[in-house]
Amino acid sequence: MRTRHELADVIRLFGEDLSRKTIVTPLQSNVLGKIADCRTAILGGHEEACESCGMVRYSYNSCGDRHCPKCQVLD
Ligand SMILES: [Zn+2]
Repeated sequence: MRTRHELADVIRLFGEDLSRKTIVTPLQSNVLGKIADCRTAILGGHEEACESCGMVRYSYNSCGDRHCPKCQVLD
């Protein structure tokens, strides 16, 4: 089920404010950045072609971080 708001949206909206109000370690900052950029044009994309029907699908690349909710789900 796709939710109306994603964690990436929250990070994009409030991540900078969070960094000002609390101590964010470099590792945490790195993970937050990966989650915000996951499956966006920032990470680039690729095309997948079905060997049976030839249908081509374009997808943005994922971040691959184990903390990322999008990368924890197989689709
Ligand atoms: Zn990800």
